Amino acid sequence: MSELRHRSAVSPLRRAVTGRFADRRGVRANQRLPLIDEIVRAHRPEDPMHCLRPAVLAAAARSFVAAFPGEVLYAVKCNPEPAVLRALHAGGVRHFDCASPAEIRLVRQLFPDAEIHYMHPVKGRAAIREAWVAQGVRDFSFDSMAELEKILAETEGQPGLGLFVRLVPPKAETMYDLSGKFGAVPAVAVELLRRAAAVAERVGICFHVGSQCMEPAAYARAIALAAEVARESGVRIDVLDVGGGFPVSYPDVTPPPLADFMEQIADAFAATGLADHGCRLWAEPGRALVAPGVSLVVQVQHRRGDELFVNDGVYGSLSDAGVPAFRFPARLIRLDRAAAQEQTGFAFFGPTCDSADRMAGPFHLPADAGEGDWIELGQLGAYGGSLRTAFNGFDQARLVEVRDRPLLETPGYDLIAIAA
Ligand SMILES: *Cc1c(COP(=O)(O)O)cnc(C)c1O
Repeated sequence: MSELRHRSAVSPLRRAVTGRFADRRGVRANQRLPLIDEIVRAHRPEDPMHCLRPAVLAAAARSFVAAFPGEVLYAVKCNPEPAVLRALHAGGVRHFDCASPAEIRLVRQLFPDAEIHYMHPVKGRAAIREAWVAQGVRDFSFDSMAELEKILAETEGQPGLGLFVRLVPPKAETMYDLSGKFGAVPAVAVELLRRAAAVAERVGICFHVGSQCMEPAAYARAIALAAEVARESGVRIDVLDVGGGFPVSYPDVTPPPLADFMEQIADAFAATGLADHGCRLWAEPGRALVAPGVSLVVQVQHRRGDELFVNDGVYGSLSDAGVPAFRFPARLIRLDRAAAQEQTGFAFFGPTCDSADRMAGPFHLPADAGEGDWIELGQLGAYGGSLRTAFNGFDQARLVEVRDRPLLETPGYDLIAIAA
């Protein structure tokens, strides 16, 4: 059985890289990993426990890389845990979309040969310089003339620069609309592209349709708009980067199959004619690669009616269960006696003193769930551990590697085949 590691999960980026996860962990290695229930039985954990499924992470990456007609960049902010990054690398991911110096350093340390792309449209000057000089980063995104001038000043007109104009895409059906903060409107993007083409070795257009996008056609609309911007500018773009946003399943939420997204993207791209002069497609998935690969195991400390007080919450790994009101698949883990057959929809309270630390759910569990029981919450590999805070001193979380199957499947991803 793998040892349990106590660690502060506040900033995975500052933690030492352990290096204990073999790069090409195969099915045999996966079979040596414990099951979640075995760990709970042996350790009866009173701290929240992150259960990482390396084989599932690698399989999700493999599915996406195989399906996408271009390069796949993993959006590191989604989950920067080194073991997660290694599993994605084992699944064939060789490009990383980073947004801070710490993310860039982490990826460079783990994979000296990785292609790192700095796709945050607003960066500090020293951060640009470090990325360019010390970390070998060549691609930068921007959405204003001021940011472009900043990048040009810090890279001192040296050769090799790649410049990516971040475009505001048309509205789409998503859980998170990201268009309010970043992105140039088409008329501005045209100007930015012309200026970029005059100074850079490669130019591209990127966008983000919004996270957990349920609508394959949203990518097609954004691709058509990007092509219009390129045509209007007269610039031959080298890359069209369709960003992230690819969805996964949640309880009562089943996205269209991955193939529908890929078909819409490939067809829309073909219709632009951009490939005729060598333009390539990139994508920056985050959630879709990592959500199914990590579960969180919490323990119930108290029950009040249909509300369970558990040991993690919105200031920990369950941020998305708070205001965005994501529901996660839930499974009761009880060691000593059978659970009730009947199900109840529970709300959760987290461990902090803040009354905002509440998760409406409903999380469906056996009706007799109560103090001492453990609960596995699935689909938490994305934006779970990476959003933890130390508020109220609840910053301890354990990290273990397991061989369990994911609690939910997303259509188009071959995750079951690998988990034994
Ligand atoms: C967050 C982010 C992503 C990943 O988004 P998902 O919805 O998790 O796929 C990709 N690109 C950029 C620029 C981002 O900010």
